Amino acid sequence: MATVLDIAKRNPNAAPVAVSDAARAAGFIEKTAELTVAAGAAPGGASLVGLTRDQLKDSLAAIGVPEREFKMRVAQLWHWIYFRGARDFAEMTNMGKELRAKLAAAYTLARPQVVSEQVSKDGTRKWLIRMASTGPLDKGAEIECVYIPEVDRGTLCVSSQVGCTLTCSFCHTGTQRLVRNLTSAEIVAQLIVARDAIGDWPGATPPEGAFVPSDGGRFVSNIVFMGMGEPLYNTDNVVAAIDVMSDGEGLTLSRRRITVSTSGVVPQMERLGAEANTMLAISLHAVRDELRDELVPINRKYDIKQLLDACRAYPGLSNARRITFEYVMLKGVNDSDSDARKLVQLLKGIPAKINLIPFNPWPGSKYECSDWERIERFSEIVYRAGYASPVRTPRGRDILAACGQLKSETEKLRARARMMAEQGIGAEGVYAVGNGE
Ligand code: SF4
Repeated sequence: MATVLDIAKRNPNAAPVAVSDAARAAGFIEKTAELTVAAGAAPGGASLVGLTRDQLKDSLAAIGVPEREFKMRVAQLWHWIYFRGARDFAEMTNMGKELRAKLAAAYTLARPQVVSEQVSKDGTRKWLIRMASTGPLDKGAEIECVYIPEVDRGTLCVSSQVGCTLTCSFCHTGTQRLVRNLTSAEIVAQLIVARDAIGDWPGATPPEGAFVPSDGGRFVSNIVFMGMGEPLYNTDNVVAAIDVMSDGEGLTLSRRRITVSTSGVVPQMERLGAEANTMLAISLHAVRDELRDELVPINRKYDIKQLLDACRAYPGLSNARRITFEYVMLKGVNDSDSDARKLVQLLKGIPAKINLIPFNPWPGSKYECSDWERIERFSEIVYRAGYASPVRTPRGRDILAACGQLKSETEKLRARARMMAEQGIGAEGVYAVGNGE
């Protein structure tokens, strides 16, 4: 039976985190949330950025806008916030002065704060983003968001939780404590922040020297939910955020260009397909239960057979809408010929793509990346069996932005503080070190 932890009793919009009793008893599959942090932007809150149509309607009602005007006013706000990227109510020239003044008095169009931006040699950008504070005890949750530009597309990797409930052993983010789920507004706000930063609004221009797609399309053309967190432990907010991101009158991202990646939360997969209608990716990484139990411990709850059965039942699955199976290449762990053969055998009958991901080492990780010849051999076996098996080029390695490496600076500072405390060094030393890096 699942227990729902109310992580923000003072905030009705906070997203609770469900943690099963069995998992808690097991102790290592899922982590529990810190109980002190409430969620960010929401109706009645400070910023309208990221809100759904219903939330915008509630915000208008709260400042006395008559019900008969809701539809028109929501449409106007929607256009300015999501199509034009407005930052000031004064820009909304098709609304009367009086209403603009009312809106400006009650709300803002503030984005979450960009604490830092790192740009990789390959053009990948990583932002550390601090969400709005929700009270005097909350400094604002921090998450990371990564932009990966290519010539013909720009992919934004967004986070769905602050930290992660799960503890996949190859994943840097998995070592971070779960703080809370992000609200739908906070998920959408990551896209807004990215579009601000790379000039992806009508009339805007990218920063000098920035690498953005040159095909004439949107700079952010694709979204992957592969940042911090397990999206299907935050399904309500992920589905609501996808509705906002894919709305044809605003951010207009095709659902076919939005991919939700799950480690295997089997009971939520059908709902994701039915309600969000997005592409699905599975963090598979192993073809035997005993190994997957270690690499992706949620496998102890939903084993490979259950996971693949849920894949076969994913709504809308077809050759045109394949499931992507992510497979991180770990030297001597999951990269043998027999692993490759077992993989194709397991996926038989599932329209699938297999992404082979060279492992990105992170400080303290116990795994190494497979040798290149091994990856090629593995890829060859998969390819010969009829599956596309691209080897994903590692991106943003120099800024720790690649898959499984997301981890906020706050958490690194906390870890460093713990280490230094153990060594008898005080907090001043921590900040001196932190600022100097
Ligand atoms: S791989 Fe994904 S689900 Fe697993 S610990 Fe990392 S962020 Fe969480």
